[in-house]
Amino acid sequence: MKFAILSDIHANLDALEVVLKDTKEQGCTHYVCLGDVVGYGPNPRECLEIIRNMNCPTVMGNHDEYVAKEQALTGFNPMAADGIKWTRAQLNAEEKQWLRDLKYVRAVDPFTIVHATLDLPERWAYVFDKLAAAASFNYQHTAVCFNGHTHIPIAFIRTPAGIQGGLYTKIKIEVARKYFVNVGSIGQPRDRNPKASYVIFDLINNVIELRRLDYDIAAVQKKIRAAGLPESLAQRLEQGR
Ligand code: ZN
Repeated sequence: MKFAILSDIHANLDALEVVLKDTKEQGCTHYVCLGDVVGYGPNPRECLEIIRNMNCPTVMGNHDEYVAKEQALTGFNPMAADGIKWTRAQLNAEEKQWLRDLKYVRAVDPFTIVHATLDLPERWAYVFDKLAAAASFNYQHTAVCFNGHTHIPIAFIRTPAGIQGGLYTKIKIEVARKYFVNVGSIGQPRDRNPKASYVIFDLINNVIELRRLDYDIAAVQKKIRAAGLPESLAQRLEQGR
């Protein structure tokens, strides 16, 4: 049994389609989504429809929340705020309601999913170091938890000897350890690798594998410009940052 762990699609339909094709070729039968389905990208409705139709466990991301709850955008960088305002205008009330109803954390036997962190998930903190990972591990009751939010695929592993963290491509799950694994972003990678990122969790072999895929970045950039979204949102896709 193979789970595809999808995160931070950010309304990038072209990247999502390439990823979903790959999940099928790789034999994935189950799906989860870690949030930020919308925001930044030019196809929020299409991406939302795909994820809703998949009927898979999905948690709320900060962009989903800001788009759906119509709250003030203080503290947001102007580029992200423009993207959220534009996205709000694209979605209907029913679509926003679906986003509003998402939970912050979900248990998906035998693992957990969250957008940002398990301690105070509604605060949208970023886990870049062992200290932040340690705070989240305190609330992690399964061996494995997947998250997104930073758009950078790194994994933290808690062993009896302490916490280690770093880049990964494959992780074999071992007993007496806990894993907090960021699966990277499908629609807007930020690790200076522009390829779409997602993870396959193979429950038979207990292996987590990071997948990176090329997609038609130029096509998405064209749509971003046509929509009147900020130019920097188009440029960052090819830079992967
Ligand atoms: Zn995001």
